[in-house]
Amino acid sequence: MDDLIVFENESDDKGSEATPWKVLIVDDDDDVHRATFYSLKGTEVLGRRLDFISAFSATEAMRVLKAQPDIAVILLDVVMEDETAGLRLVKTIRQELNLPDVRIVLRTGQPGYAPEEEAIRDYDINDYKAKNELTHTRLLTTITAAIRSFAYIRALAEGRKDLERIVDASADLMSARHVNLFATQVTRHAGNIFALSGDTLVLTTLSDEDDQLAADLHVVVSSGRFSRYQGMLDSEIPEVAIRHRIQMAKEGQRSVLDQNAMTLFSKSQSGNLLVAYLEGATRLKADHALGLLDVYASTVALSLENVGLMARLKHFAYYDPLLDIPNRLYFAQHIDEKLEGTIEGWLVSLVDIDQFSAINDTIGSHHGDELLRRVRDRLLNELSKSVVLARISGDTFGLMGPRTEMAPERIRQIFTQPFTIEGRDQLLLSVTQGYVALADQIVSGHDAIKRANIALKRAKSLFRGEECRFTLDMARETEERVKLLHNLRQAFEAQNLYLVYQPQVDMCTGEVTGFEALMRWRTRSGENISPLQFIGVAENSGLIVPLGEWAMRVAMAELVILQRKFGRRFRMGLNVSMVQFRHHSFLSALDQALADLGVDPSDIELEITESVAMLDIGKVRRILSDLKSRGCSIAIDDFGTGFSSLSYLEHLPIQRLKIDKSFVDKLGTGLAESNLPEMIIQLGRNLKMDVIAEGVETREQADRLIEIGCQEAQGYLFAKPMADEALYEWLASRIKN
Ligand code: C2E
Ligand code: CA
Ligand code: CA
Repeated sequence: MDDLIVFENESDDKGSEATPWKVLIVDDDDDVHRATFYSLKGTEVLGRRLDFISAFSATEAMRVLKAQPDIAVILLDVVMEDETAGLRLVKTIRQELNLPDVRIVLRTGQPGYAPEEEAIRDYDINDYKAKNELTHTRLLTTITAAIRSFAYIRALAEGRKDLERIVDASADLMSARHVNLFATQVTRHAGNIFALSGDTLVLTTLSDEDDQLAADLHVVVSSGRFSRYQGMLDSEIPEVAIRHRIQMAKEGQRSVLDQNAMTLFSKSQSGNLLVAYLEGATRLKADHALGLLDVYASTVALSLENVGLMARLKHFAYYDPLLDIPNRLYFAQHIDEKLEGTIEGWLVSLVDIDQFSAINDTIGSHHGDELLRRVRDRLLNELSKSVVLARISGDTFGLMGPRTEMAPERIRQIFTQPFTIEGRDQLLLSVTQGYVALADQIVSGHDAIKRANIALKRAKSLFRGEECRFTLDMARETEERVKLLHNLRQAFEAQNLYLVYQPQVDMCTGEVTGFEALMRWRTRSGENISPLQFIGVAENSGLIVPLGEWAMRVAMAELVILQRKFGRRFRMGLNVSMVQFRHHSFLSALDQALADLGVDPSDIELEITESVAMLDIGKVRRILSDLKSRGCSIAIDDFGTGFSSLSYLEHLPIQRLKIDKSFVDKLGTGLAESNLPEMIIQLGRNLKMDVIAEGVETREQADRLIEIGCQEAQGYLFAKPMADEALYEWLASRIKN
């Protein structure tokens, strides 16, 4: 038991300079005071002198005890005013003055008188002595035992306080979510527990920066003169002594206690390390401090495991697994943080690689991943550290930074050099960017990304390879488009969409050659919404795929009715959007419709635009050949308005060119474009393709077209698009004539 008495060591360094033990003598007999005093004068107990205080009555004793609660031992006369005065005082000391630590030795001048055993137990009386036993040796033994006992009780109480501090620390450490905060808490609590106040240094294998994982042991928290060590590896710390201490703790896997410093070593279950170097001399005794340090180190280890797990979870949640850069979520948070400070001149930009999916198809996804890594590296290398780089989705990167560092022209310039991928030709990429200025009423990171994305979409459809800045008009438009799409979906489900058919005629013979199926939307309130408005929305959302398949079937069913009703074959033209054409289900849906409705494929003409034909040569040619092999014909819609290279068209199986209405409108105006139809007709002849003019509204236009060699036409001059009943009537009268 004596080993536990930590004060014992105090004699080593402090000797009789230490505060004396206070001994209170309570006795109504003056001789007893004097005898005790002389008997023990100059004696040291556990390395400390004794300081005697005298009280001659219970009342006086009370006064002394109230004033000096740090009295260690009371030598108390049992019998004073009356036989129980002493015991009453004991009761008061324990219960009213609430002094549980002070040791009490009862003395009596009447041999044979002893207090009840119960009283001894209840009032925690240390000893009971007859006054005639007050020889020097006996008294010293008694006092020493009482003082030991007192010191022990005090040490236990002190130890309990230390443990309580560790328990408090543990709760705090467990709730720390970030490495830095955690490390700071470790030093704060250590300072508290060990009463240290010197400079501190904390090293850990958990990284503070962006919660990256598995770094080497490096400084994450530093104070005072250690501040300049921030971020250093343990092996780089310039002070040899400290470096050695840390090394020693690391190698021995244990904490080290020195005269003027403490090195805490902690290792979590999964192997993360934390070493804290705390300068200063602890007020605690060596044994005690070392034991406490061990307990504290294991508390830290538990929390360290916790912080490590949090860091890993955070990494999974916030980093893109392929590129190991922040993902969309984390990017949004970075922006949120930025929005709290100065944002003047800062941009959020989305950088999208043009045609990435085609490139990915060509080089294979393995190389595609490699290419994305190269792009990441290039961006990280070329852009300043102030720019945050993230991956937003497949081939879209997010950038946030000052405009001076990431102006769109600068980003474009980064891509002027080709990328090299193992075993592949050099790849030249172009990018399209949508960006937004943070100062433009951006409220959150998500908001910024959303708006930059709106600008990106705009740029992709209008200025591919360039960039577009977000404006509030765009937001308004987008909102309206979202509303429109919502209504369109509902209309589609509620069967408020229907088709009308516009006849195509041979202007020379007057014969009806076919029809073009056109979609119509009449809202419940009777309003007609133009396909020019809603087709685009349907295309962007992908709704055009089911919509197009539905139209295909309805038009085919109508064709069957028309052919049966009028006993002859007609051609049915169907508009096919790029999205629909490219969709993997396109051919099978077409086959299914043809089979279900019993339509001859050679009566079907698919109208695609030049932009469709421009898509991806290989893929387009494959699909077109498949269509041709079924017997379907292909017309290029709005011909002349796109940018297709003619040499390119030449090699595709196309049957017909539709001269756009805008050119027909110019016929006979004498403007430069007025002879475009003639050129198209000539071109068609050369390529062995048929030509049809659309949007013919006047007799003059028709005559001119016939004159320059275009026989077929479609337009209000002949008929507007009509729904079934009107169509049957029109056809019936036409055929009778
Ligand atoms: P488009 O394929 O070029 O269709 C021709 C448009 O010109 C039709 O407009 C038609 O009503 C109109 N038109 C025909 N003759 C004349 C005329 O003499 N004068 C005038 N001013 N206009 C004439 P509509 O029906 O509003 O369709 C607009 C566009 O919507 C179509 O252009 C087509 O790109 C698209 N669209 C319509 N229906 C469908 C569909 O079922 N699927 C797909 N993917 N797109 C469709
Ligand atoms: Ca068309
Ligand atoms: Ca057209």
